[in-house]
Amino acid sequence: MATATPLLNYINGQWYPSESKDTLEVRNPATADLLNYVPLGTVGDVHRATEAAARAFVTWRRVPATERIQYLFKLKILLETHLDELCRLITLECGKTLTESRGEWQRAIENVEVACGIPLLMQGYNSEDIARGIDEIMIRQPLGVTAIIAPFNFPGMIPFWFLPYAIACGNTVVIKPSEKVPLTMQRTLELLAETGLPAGVVNLVNGAKTVVDAILEHPTIRAISFVGSSPVAKYVYGKAATHGKRVQCQGGAKNPIIIFPDADPNLTPKIAADSAFGCAGQRCLAASLAVTVGEARDWFIDAMTDVAETRIVGDGLNPEVQMGPVITPQSQARIEQLIEQGIAEGATPVVDGRHPQISGYEQGNFIRPTLLTNVQPDSILAQTEIFGPVLGIVEVDRLETALEWVNGGQWGNMACIFTQSGAIARQFRYEAEAGNIGINIGVAAPMAFFPFSGWKESFFGDLHGQGKHAVEFFTQTKVVVERWFEDWSRSF
Ligand code: NAD
Repeated sequence: MATATPLLNYINGQWYPSESKDTLEVRNPATADLLNYVPLGTVGDVHRATEAAARAFVTWRRVPATERIQYLFKLKILLETHLDELCRLITLECGKTLTESRGEWQRAIENVEVACGIPLLMQGYNSEDIARGIDEIMIRQPLGVTAIIAPFNFPGMIPFWFLPYAIACGNTVVIKPSEKVPLTMQRTLELLAETGLPAGVVNLVNGAKTVVDAILEHPTIRAISFVGSSPVAKYVYGKAATHGKRVQCQGGAKNPIIIFPDADPNLTPKIAADSAFGCAGQRCLAASLAVTVGEARDWFIDAMTDVAETRIVGDGLNPEVQMGPVITPQSQARIEQLIEQGIAEGATPVVDGRHPQISGYEQGNFIRPTLLTNVQPDSILAQTEIFGPVLGIVEVDRLETALEWVNGGQWGNMACIFTQSGAIARQFRYEAEAGNIGINIGVAAPMAFFPFSGWKESFFGDLHGQGKHAVEFFTQTKVVVERWFEDWSRSF
């Protein structure tokens, strides 16, 4: 699959080489096989894409919403027709299992479906006779050129938290995929082109920091949707705001799950393991701290040990595999180092997944599920987003102490509780300082018609991705106050 020619940028309906000769290798994280080269795009690449998007906006915003969504209906069919190929692509470059890739595309397609409701979702409102003979109307209009900057862990889904809404609302788009997983969006835009979408409505520039900075500074770009780690999210938020842009930045996470003694002892460990070890722990909604309350520790730790030890780890393309590799050798080394430091700070490794032997995949970036107890409140394991298949376990005796673990950290992406008690669940739902709450759910990922609601350091901005928030984000309101004087010259 590797070619000597680096990937191309998609600008004004055509595929062009980047101005840059600098490239990065794109490798399969399970095998280290070279898949392709991604160019490290330039300021000039961004300018070219933005100019194309600005030109396209002039006519695209005048296309009725009912016509704009016809391209999305076609895209949905194309994505479904090519689903196997698209899932394989995600697994190849990102490492997750084919089942996980399929789940990811399902979520992406759901966003296309919701955005097809734009003629209704984008409606304004009006009041007749705000004073005698005067009416007031609120209209939603598109912003212009918008940009999407994506992380590596959901190469298909995350751009779709924004893209379908942006274009359905009449905006044009410049996308910068993660340089670690550029192949999925490349193929997706080939399919988007097959819908007949007018040139320039969606453009793609490959690259890394230089491209991001050029997007943040470009005067024509009106709005930026970013997803990635919290330090970069904070940087993008600040810089984009300085340049007068509307901005939504979804950041990192450290997600706690509380296990109450009355939780279902059979299902809870399975659900918790899927949350902690699914996608090799590289989900922003991965459980990374389990807080057991009272005697829940007795059955939870034993059951989790069993699940962690028996999870089948390997190449995500193998249908029997339950967990793939992490994204890069650097990521693997970082996770292993965090485990090391956590143990040095007093944590006990119940299952240590470092340096596994995966026969035939010696070059892959594998870590097996890892379980640590005795995690200390101010230790690295409690304070850092690990973004790997590592679950720390903390034992407490009361809900209030568990809530201190939930609310004490800097992040607020997700918090979950496992219990059969409605009263406990309600108190948790009420008190937990996180934007996505799970009750007997391990990955509380909102459907496309709900906002993906991070709080605290997990989100910078006001309006989140998906659903009605996306429609508000990708439109600006215009209020018209109007009065018509009686026309005395009228002869009819
Ligand atoms: P990342 O922050 O390294 O990269 C995200 C994007 O920013 C990429 O496109 C990258 O090219 C760019 N970038 C990286 N460093 C930059 C810099 N210094 N200046 C400008 N741009 C830069 O994130 P990642 O490793 O690709 O993704 C994993 C992170 O994303 C995790 O922290 C995860 O929690 C987070 N994430 C959050 C959500 C959410 O909804 N909150 C969803 C998915 C992933």
